Amino acid sequence: MGTRPLLNRRLDGLGTTIFAEMSALATATGSINLGQGFPDTDGPREIAEAAARAVLAGHGNQYPPGPGIPELRQAVAEHQQRFRGLSHDPDSEVLITAGATEAIAATLLALLEPGDEVIAFEPFYDSYAACIAMAGAVRVPLTLRAPSFRPDLDELRSLITPRTRLLLINTPHNPTGLVLTPEELSAIAALAVEHDLLVVTDEVYEHLVFTGAHHPIAALPGMRERSIAISSAGKTFSFTGWKVGWVTAAAPLVAAVRTAKQYLTYVSSGPFQYAVAEALRLPDEYFDGFRAELLRKRDLLADGLEAAGFRVFRPEGTYFITTDITPLGEKDGIEFCRTLPERCGVVAIPNAVFYDNVEAGRPLVRFTFCKRVEVLEEAVTRLSRI
Ligand code: PMP
Ligand code: GLN
Repeated sequence: MGTRPLLNRRLDGLGTTIFAEMSALATATGSINLGQGFPDTDGPREIAEAAARAVLAGHGNQYPPGPGIPELRQAVAEHQQRFRGLSHDPDSEVLITAGATEAIAATLLALLEPGDEVIAFEPFYDSYAACIAMAGAVRVPLTLRAPSFRPDLDELRSLITPRTRLLLINTPHNPTGLVLTPEELSAIAALAVEHDLLVVTDEVYEHLVFTGAHHPIAALPGMRERSIAISSAGKTFSFTGWKVGWVTAAAPLVAAVRTAKQYLTYVSSGPFQYAVAEALRLPDEYFDGFRAELLRKRDLLADGLEAAGFRVFRPEGTYFITTDITPLGEKDGIEFCRTLPERCGVVAIPNAVFYDNVEAGRPLVRFTFCKRVEVLEEAVTRLSRI
């Protein structure tokens, strides 16, 4: 095959995702997996039954409609109204995708020209770098720095150039747990309007906010026509394998994203779409109970990590805790995570892999707390021995 590398230059260096690598390490070593963010118990039984019923009734077993089944688009629109006070036309302003991952890919592939600059908070969720690269665009990181991880909005302004096309925001933020305040969102929105930028918000942890509240940027002046919100059922309903996500935005933006989405998966998750339509209509007790349970688990793991000697940045949202391993006499999170399974039988994720500016993330390590209480307790016991 000659000397030309098989993997194209755009994807050079992206290799295997850290989540796959660390989950494989957990399996190989029999470790407790506090790395990849997936729960070890499934979501509500009645929602699983709704999926099973849909399969048996022949709902969604053949290609569903390209934009998603009408029942789910309607349920997403109702959810946006109920929780965010935003009204969306289910036919033209909602698009169902194969998880938030496809929504991110389709959005970036649809909206970016090669050479466009995308400003995103780093640490970045890993698929952002890959999708920006696949679109031939250029990522420009705004580094979130410990201990607060709050974005420096003057720095954000200074990063905007005539080539900037899009701001890619994630709130609540994986892996730091940052939740943007209304003031921060307003400042970001004002910059977007001033510089005529698009804003994509990844809101997959929207129902896991422990401090403050989740606010949609789309509600702010001038943002309805320039913002695209992305969310998914995976985290909120603890069915990460179903891969049902959605995009909500003004009709011209949804039409653009739909064009790209048609040629990625075309459609996906037929029967699960029926089940997620039911899930989105669950009563408030479900959403409140889910958040309260995860809050207890956050504190269990955070207290345990603190007792074990980690510096803990208690997250405002998400189901991840970022820690600093420096107080343990450690410097390098990647090295630390590679050896942690053999040292104590726990797997974690090194935040450094989510940074261009690797130094800012070098001593930081992420643990997830979306696991059963007894699993978290055992993990804490093991970590206290390192
Ligand atoms: N964005 C962020 C910030 C995530 O943590 C994840 C992982 N759930 C995704 C997107 C992907 O979501 P999905 O599993 O729905 O594709
Ligand atoms: N969102 C999950 C995490 O951050 C992982 C999803 C994936 O494996 N791509 O852990």
